[in-house]
Amino acid sequence: MTGPRVVVLAGGVGGAKFTLGVREALARRGAPEATVVVNTGDDLWLSGVRLQPDVDSIVYALAGQNDTTRGWGRAGDTERVNAELQAWGAGWPWFTLGDLDLGTHLARTGWLRDGFTPTEVIARMSQRWPLGVDLLPMTDAEVDTWVVLNGGARLHFQEWWTRHRAALTPERFENPGIDRAVPAPGVVETIAAADVVLIAPSNPVVSIGPILAVPGIRDAVRAASAPVVGVSPIIGGRVVRGMADVCLATIGVETSASAVAAHYGARADGGLLDAWLMAEEDADAAAQVEAAGIRAVVRPLWMTDAATTGVMVDAALDAAGV
Ligand code: GDP
Ligand code: CA
Repeated sequence: MTGPRVVVLAGGVGGAKFTLGVREALARRGAPEATVVVNTGDDLWLSGVRLQPDVDSIVYALAGQNDTTRGWGRAGDTERVNAELQAWGAGWPWFTLGDLDLGTHLARTGWLRDGFTPTEVIARMSQRWPLGVDLLPMTDAEVDTWVVLNGGARLHFQEWWTRHRAALTPERFENPGIDRAVPAPGVVETIAAADVVLIAPSNPVVSIGPILAVPGIRDAVRAASAPVVGVSPIIGGRVVRGMADVCLATIGVETSASAVAAHYGARADGGLLDAWLMAEEDADAAAQVEAAGIRAVVRPLWMTDAATTGVMVDAALDAAGV
């Protein structure tokens, strides 16, 4: 295998679409499979099973098993068990668990109960379908994201996001225990050995944020000899889908491609980015990004299908000079 060793930091659905493009671009180059470090801040316990929504979004998408119409879960899933759980008053009525999806959660929970680490469980889950990438969780520790509202009430991120559709104004996000967490085995080593580190166009606050908050990961990215290239999740000054704008406002970052680039920061300035892929719709802001010490690369950023996203990943690899 020749070609660059690529590490991707990624969240769920945006991360999954991006990862499909990474797989496509690297296969064309005959490069080794990328390592994708996935956010586990979205994880939760529900009805006795452990859910890892961002991991599953990526696994299902790479396996071609995802529901592309609905945008989450398994294609062709049914909800018989979910209906029964609701009849019992168990779980959350606003959080649907598909039957096939529950099979995944039961398998995962069983293996965790048997003593396997999340890293080992993900490795096992990666064997069922040829994913074409190596998946690593950011950490093996449980560091679920909580939302602290003005006034101090706290709710799990998934309740805030799925039940309330981000309509309650957060004061801050927290990942209890994250200051004591360590990166999952292989994360720091793979970043150190990489030829390029890509930051997917995922939610900067609740997807990429928790990954970088695991002690050691931000430093590993900053210390990497490889160039670091980020891709804007903001197109034309708006989030493409979801409520990342509410998350950004919570941490005092404007919803714009240049503000998100500045949030990650220029590597030369103690930040993370060497280059930033931004959308043609945001070309006006390129000068601002450059002024902040980050190379701005203006490209189409719509991840409409794997081939289109692959071209976008080519641009990111070109920007990294690999
Ligand atoms: P989640 O964990 O399922 O919320 O997904 P991620 O955090 O990985 O990604 C969510 C982000 O992906 C959102 O903030 C979107 O703005 C961004 N996104 C979704 N589709 C596209 C796209 O086609 N292009 C770009 N540039 N960003 C996208
Ligand atoms: Ca997520």
